[in-house]
Amino acid sequence: MNQKQKRRLHPQFKGIPSEHIAFSKKKYQMKQPIQGFRPKMLLLMLSFFSVQLLYAQAGPNLGTTARTMNQAIQAMEEGKFETANGLFRQIVQSNVPIPPEMPFFFAKTLYELGQYSNSENFLQKYLDLNGFSGEHYQQAKALQEKLKIPLSQIKECSLCDRLGYRLHTCETCLGERVIEQDCGLCKLTGIVGCSRCAGKGVVTKKNVFNIVEYYDCERCETTGRLTCPRCEGTKVEHGDCNTCKGTGQITSSNLCDHTKNDGLTYSQSIRTSFRIIGH
Ligand SMILES: [Zn+2]
Ligand SMILES: [Zn+2]
Ligand SMILES: [Zn+2]
Ligand SMILES: [Zn+2]
Repeated sequence: MNQKQKRRLHPQFKGIPSEHIAFSKKKYQMKQPIQGFRPKMLLLMLSFFSVQLLYAQAGPNLGTTARTMNQAIQAMEEGKFETANGLFRQIVQSNVPIPPEMPFFFAKTLYELGQYSNSENFLQKYLDLNGFSGEHYQQAKALQEKLKIPLSQIKECSLCDRLGYRLHTCETCLGERVIEQDCGLCKLTGIVGCSRCAGKGVVTKKNVFNIVEYYDCERCETTGRLTCPRCEGTKVEHGDCNTCKGTGQITSSNLCDHTKNDGLTYSQSIRTSFRIIGH
């Protein structure tokens, strides 16, 4: 593996674990299947077994990737960007090396869908991987320029998160940020293990003769347990809301239009969500 192949995408975008996104220019080919089974070959076969497995998996998948990519580009040409998005995501999640031009097409699709931050990530990846020699270098630079305005709008808007998704008031704390809630440290037991003795009730020390001596743990009075310091045994803590991590807001799956009018008032959106739960 060279440096380029090792690089991973920034895990900023939703739904795709970063470890699934590997880029590679290298093309895999199926190796000839092993015909006979000779004892002399056994050791050699064993040592190459994992390599064979890799080739066997990557071989057919790479053909699939090329096909999926062509379908995605076709969908883009027809203006079906949602379809193209789904196909590109399939490629990213398939865990096989991604064709070098793919990040450009994906970035363009994401731009068309208003996912500007994701688009920027893929565009950067494309430029990092291909540099000047990318087939779509000029178009990539042009897209980078076009992204500047919507990205700065996201940055300045207080109604959306940094990816441009609309924020809503947290329904657990109703935007209060700090609330009384179940203690997250002691898991509703009111007690935690003593950290000084690691819950054992005794501590060990080496004396000057390098011999281990045991002492009763004074901190927990040899019980190995302490009253939960966060809730002081009440099992209830007063702190940052666990749902929204104390921000008072949660991200929705809707892209923000950067205007205050989202068609629903706050109380309406609460009622809607209750109706959904009630069903
Ligand atoms: Zn507690
Ligand atoms: Zn202790
Ligand atoms: Zn909250
Ligand atoms: Zn916004």
